[in-house]
Amino acid sequence: KVYSEIEVGSWFTKSRIVAITGSNGKTTTTSWLADMWAREGRSHYVGGNIGTAFAGLVASQEPGYDMLLEVSSFQLDHIHSFKPFVSAILNVTPDHLNRYQNSFDKYTSSKMRIMENQDKGDYFIYNYDDPVLKERLSGSGIRPDGPIMLPFSMLDEVSRGAFVRNGTIYLNLNGQEEEIMPVSQVRLQGTHNLYNGLAASMTARVAEISKDAIRESLSAFEGVEHRLELVRIHQGVRYINDSKATNVNSVWFALRTYNTPIVLILGGRDKGNDYKELIPEIKEKVHTIIAIGEGKNEIHRQLGDVVPYMYDAASMQQAVLIAEKKARKGEIVLLSPACASFDMFDGFEHRGNMFKQIVNQL
Ligand code: ADP
Repeated sequence: KVYSEIEVGSWFTKSRIVAITGSNGKTTTTSWLADMWAREGRSHYVGGNIGTAFAGLVASQEPGYDMLLEVSSFQLDHIHSFKPFVSAILNVTPDHLNRYQNSFDKYTSSKMRIMENQDKGDYFIYNYDDPVLKERLSGSGIRPDGPIMLPFSMLDEVSRGAFVRNGTIYLNLNGQEEEIMPVSQVRLQGTHNLYNGLAASMTARVAEISKDAIRESLSAFEGVEHRLELVRIHQGVRYINDSKATNVNSVWFALRTYNTPIVLILGGRDKGNDYKELIPEIKEKVHTIIAIGEGKNEIHRQLGDVVPYMYDAASMQQAVLIAEKKARKGEIVLLSPACASFDMFDGFEHRGNMFKQIVNQL
């Protein structure tokens, strides 16, 4: 029998397990939780798919620490009794389908396994605005002996869970509405981060983190490196490093975040991307695309007619220099590649660091 490392780790701890999964936003949300726990002064470890492996945390654990885990679908594929106290699914969009015989359904099922061992004393938090999750979790999708379900939504005022009413975030854990704060005071930009913030707030509240700590964290947490990270404002142009955007969906959210014209650096190792999903956003905001890496030809083929200017760059250096020439005051240069980095770099961190280094030398 093959077990994944998170399964084995769970055999050797009595700590409360908080587990976050989803196609995008796992690292941001898990780091956000760690920030909330820290502000509350609550003992915790952070790990799993980020930093230290769960089994590693367990090997050196102190009793009474909460385990805040980012969990990938790969890790969930081989669990047996892994049972978080709180679990959350942020969203489900196509990624890594090659591992699941190109079946979106199988990939979704793999993510759903995060809750399969949870029971009545546990909590499951999910994105009510995600059509895939909503469908899976309506009607017959709900297990009668399963965990307490807490959806989060920006579109509907869900009766239990986290929601937005008149521009203000509310939580409702057990029938009582708690006003948290206006959306406008959340520090991290972008609708996608608001979703991450709703998920993190609800998760924290379930774990009895105080409203004050949650509020403080929502208004102060600056996000994680390589995710829509502001590198520098140079000659009135904002340079944004979103090197972690390794799929089309993340790029879509990145483009949605800004309302100014954008020069977009796109490309790398293409995983069979359908860039056409980006066309409406690109038409509205992007005047120049700079294509890098192995994906260049595909980007030209799918997006060549969509933007006024399209260039190829042989290196990150060249890409940034072209971007500098094309971007005008008040605009944004955005590295949000939609692709893996391994054709030119050791990983997305290497790609992002290279971008930052070059931008800082302009
Ligand atoms: P993961 O750990 O799931 O890969 P990250 O937090 O590292 O997620 O973010 C990866 C990329 O996805 C970044 O480009 C980020 O801006 C974007 N992103 C973050 N949260 C979301 C979300 N909820 N929905 C869509 N994209 C997101």
